[in-house]
Amino acid sequence: MMNKIDCNECRGWLHAYLDNELDTELSLHIAGHLVHCAACTQCYDEITILAASVKKSIPYYDAPAALTKNIMSNIHLQITPATSIWQTLNNVARNWLVPSFSVAVLTVALLLYVAAPSHEDSFVDEAVSDHIRSLMGEHLNDVISSDKHTVKPWFAGKLDFAPPVYDFSTKGYALLGGRLEYLQHQTAAALSYKHNKHIINAFILPTTDADTASHSLSKRGYNIVFWRQNHMQFIVVSDLNKVELEDLVRDIQNSK
Ligand SMILES: [Zn+2]
Repeated sequence: MMNKIDCNECRGWLHAYLDNELDTELSLHIAGHLVHCAACTQCYDEITILAASVKKSIPYYDAPAALTKNIMSNIHLQITPATSIWQTLNNVARNWLVPSFSVAVLTVALLLYVAAPSHEDSFVDEAVSDHIRSLMGEHLNDVISSDKHTVKPWFAGKLDFAPPVYDFSTKGYALLGGRLEYLQHQTAAALSYKHNKHIINAFILPTTDADTASHSLSKRGYNIVFWRQNHMQFIVVSDLNKVELEDLVRDIQNSK
């Protein structure tokens, strides 16, 4: 191991250094170099900012359990913190894949797999767009009423399912009304609620998929909660804070 590293070596190791992939000795040399070298420190800062913004703007998806199992069972290598993903891929390629299958191809395949937009992603995007559109125009509601006995029958004959319609005025979430929306290539019910000055859209569409617990995320500055219950897919969108939005979600979930 060298005692000192120069700028070239330092720059070459910066990405791995940032990802904590280097051994302690080399990390110390780089840290030592950064203390004295303003140019490399600037380089390091730029990489840090880039990495943070990539992390923030790129969606991450969990691989299906079967794929993960399949890959992991074929890795004959203990992955330690000091092992970079490149080394791991290299080993996977050597131990598992046919020789002509290069690391680059595997990497590209994995990246494409990870980068492909999921069904969930397009669903959430569409709901957020519908929410924004409903606030921009004069089209928040086709039926304006805080009375569920007015709103619920309004949907009858317009939808081939009966969306659950409830008013939560007593809890601070007033039902404003309902309208039809088109979501995921089917007609959906949209209910709007108001909490303080925030408008909340709750989209409901039928599904044959099994029930799921609620899942919260934020996108384009909006909070979103979605879940499946009693063969209905729910997705709630608002600029309301996450905690208060989840309160409404619990009320909807517990309404029978
Ligand atoms: Zn330097």
